[in-house]
Amino acid sequence: MKGILDFIKENVSATFAREVVAVGHRIVHGLDLSQPVLLTPSSLATIKQAAVLAPLHNPPGLQGIEAATEVFTDVPQVAVFDTAFHQTMPPHAYMYGLPYDLYEKHKIRRYGFHGTSHKYLVEQAAVMLGKPASEINVITCHLGNGSSVAAVRGGQCVDTSMGLTPLEGLLMGTRCGDMDPAVVLHIQNQCGLSVKETDTLLNKKSGLLGLTGSNDLRAVIEGAGKGEARSQLGLDMFTYRVRKYIGAYTAALDGQVDAVVFSAGIGENSPFIRKLIAEPLHTMGMQLDAAANDKAVGRAGVISAPGSRVKLLVIPTDEELCIAEQTLQVVKGGAAAATGGAAAA
Ligand code: AMP
Repeated sequence: MKGILDFIKENVSATFAREVVAVGHRIVHGLDLSQPVLLTPSSLATIKQAAVLAPLHNPPGLQGIEAATEVFTDVPQVAVFDTAFHQTMPPHAYMYGLPYDLYEKHKIRRYGFHGTSHKYLVEQAAVMLGKPASEINVITCHLGNGSSVAAVRGGQCVDTSMGLTPLEGLLMGTRCGDMDPAVVLHIQNQCGLSVKETDTLLNKKSGLLGLTGSNDLRAVIEGAGKGEARSQLGLDMFTYRVRKYIGAYTAALDGQVDAVVFSAGIGENSPFIRKLIAEPLHTMGMQLDAAANDKAVGRAGVISAPGSRVKLLVIPTDEELCIAEQTLQVVKGGAAAATGGAAAA
């Protein structure tokens, strides 16, 4: 953090440190906390407690808070939670089929993640469709090393692919995504793995990495191109699962979908993957325009054919801007009243 600040002082603005009014942090899990909050001993304790549910994200998030607090001693620090956008999910989407006690006593439910990104994508999709966000139904696909899909009705999230933790849903770089929960019990019994070892296996050694040897989709595409069977399998599984979720969320939206949005490292940069996902969906009114698809790399674009009933959009996500805006709102509006927030780092 000190290094970054020195770099900015030398290369951008000597007075930068004094211009910072707040620091906004992306925090993946905050248990019951979902609206942006000022970081206080109490909110920090909740984030620490939630680390067990987001082992890849909350610990480095806490390190970031510590480092930023050391460097920016006099400014408020704000947490913006990845779960916030998904708070509008109805109970039939967020509950698991488990004894109700587990929800009441331990808050076991689906929370969803990448919320800041999905929120930004919905706002931008509304601009591209020329309608208010409250009037659009969209399916947003955040496809990166971590990947998730959200079903959005009238601008509000009604379902999303990640669950209690960011492990559920799509096949990811190192995460397994959906599977029969009995697999976990079986692995522990058969292989003698501890809870911690199983957690590492599912979060850090599975997904594309576990199947193909690489969590970088570019390497997987290259391997498949050379005829490597496992890379081809990884590619097929990744794209099949995204298609499956788009189909499921079309049903969740009663077939009334205005647009499907592709974003994040894979969704923004790979026309090849978008083609594998979208082309077979033409029977669902999603007609890809090959030339427009090839052109939209790292920038926004409409990639559906002019007559397509459902628009296909590429939108580069901007979680940082969204976090900064929400942080500023917290700082200006006071933490208690805050629903969005602001940041300046
Ligand atoms: P993110 O987590 O959003 O930074 O996305 C990282 C993922 O995007 C990695 O799996 C990269 O391999 C993938 N990615 C980035 N550029 C491309 C590309 N041109 N084609 C395919 N995958 C890409």
